[in-house]
Amino acid sequence: MRYISTRGEAPALGFEDVLLTGLATDGGLYVPESLPHFDLEEIRSWRGLSYSELAFNVMYPFVDDAIPADDFRKMLDETYSVFAHKAVAPLVQLDTNEWVMELFRGPTLAFKDFALQLLGRLLDYVLEKRKQHVVIMGATSGDTGSAAIEGCRRCEHVDIFILHPYQRVSEVQRRQMTTVQGENIHNIAVRGNFDDCQRMVKESFGNQSFLGGKTQLAAVNSINWARIMAQIVYYFHASLALGGPDRSMAFSVPTGNFGDIFAGYLAKKMGLPISQLVIATNRNDILHRFMSGNKYEQHQLEHTLSPSMDIMVSSNFERLLFDLHGRDGLAVKTLLENAAKGPVSIEDYRWKHARKLFDSDAVDDKATCDTIREIYEQNEYLLDPHTAIGVRAARNCRRDQAVPMITLGTAHPAKFPDAVAESGVSVEPPLPAHMADLFEREERYTVLDNNIDGVQAFIAKHWKNA
Ligand SMILES: *Cc1c(COP(=O)(O)O)cnc(C)c1O
Repeated sequence: MRYISTRGEAPALGFEDVLLTGLATDGGLYVPESLPHFDLEEIRSWRGLSYSELAFNVMYPFVDDAIPADDFRKMLDETYSVFAHKAVAPLVQLDTNEWVMELFRGPTLAFKDFALQLLGRLLDYVLEKRKQHVVIMGATSGDTGSAAIEGCRRCEHVDIFILHPYQRVSEVQRRQMTTVQGENIHNIAVRGNFDDCQRMVKESFGNQSFLGGKTQLAAVNSINWARIMAQIVYYFHASLALGGPDRSMAFSVPTGNFGDIFAGYLAKKMGLPISQLVIATNRNDILHRFMSGNKYEQHQLEHTLSPSMDIMVSSNFERLLFDLHGRDGLAVKTLLENAAKGPVSIEDYRWKHARKLFDSDAVDDKATCDTIREIYEQNEYLLDPHTAIGVRAARNCRRDQAVPMITLGTAHPAKFPDAVAESGVSVEPPLPAHMADLFEREERYTVLDNNIDGVQAFIAKHWKNA
């Protein structure tokens, strides 16, 4: 499988190189040159498979000659055996034909574990083969950092440095990062905000000379293709559990960077019958404004009860724009350059084409709390604020009651106890058993000033072979 850039100018790469690369050299994102396609008979034959067997069938065409089939199967068995629920991604019914797929049964209680548990193993495998080492450098406002640390904690060829804004992440989120023990794990609390952290990471990727040429940086944010690839699987999993592929499905996806829902779009293109995808956003609603009015325009960032979706610009949206423009990289490049300067639209027929599949909704904090409370009253089931946004959007945008509507449950409510309390539900969501002692575990992190030279010097000094 070859991968090409959405801006059309960077060289095509194979799977291994795409795994180790962040942005393409032309500033674009990598996508497969062509997608595998499965017919209904083949998909039907996957009924009853375990999650990791299904994952093999869906993902192997993307990996093919980079990893022998048996090694990849073994990697997937290990990856999905760390999930706390035997079904890995269990479905919970809310109402007639309405479901939540619980994607928060992994080690850090958010869906990012599906991809990052695999990404850590893939990186280590490829680096072992190549006798190479990488430094992962990432910024987090919460979920990505802990999932990345958990995913890489046993990697021999990876050091991981995660920057979080000092005293500005929730205590559960901080402890999920700082209590993981391991020589290769480094948490840096920056005296600044999330944007400061992200800027330092970006600049460091642009100029890696502080590493002295002895190692290189690798990315774990959702611009990494392997993360998208791993998320395609659970769309097949949900469909097969509910009568697919012989009936079509609708999905509602709490959306920030557009990675998770883009995986659903790919599942459809690979042959899975999906009739509707709902983009569920919070008040940071650039995608909702685009889908409802064909206007793509950045607004100020707002802080909401669903912090993992507090994003001004969704980087993976570029991958959809590439398809909507007939895979014309130059058209995407021009569009996004213009979008950086002011509002843009796309040709009406392209926008209408997107609207055949996608609907959208923006849900504010009050409606988020109302939904948490309503679902608790109706079902005695607690939603986290991100999933609540998905459920609310699913109900507002539903096209056909006969089509099962599945909301992706992106986080465990125990990760966001403040939002649950604010909704007026009087029960406190307990941490699952494997994390019950989180508040007793020893923390390890270094506080550094908001200064890139200091951060880079710290990394240069503390990676494994420094
Ligand atoms: C990351 C995250 C999202 C957003 O997912 P994207 O792939 O960035 O659209 C939604 N909910 C939770 C809980 C998350 O951690």
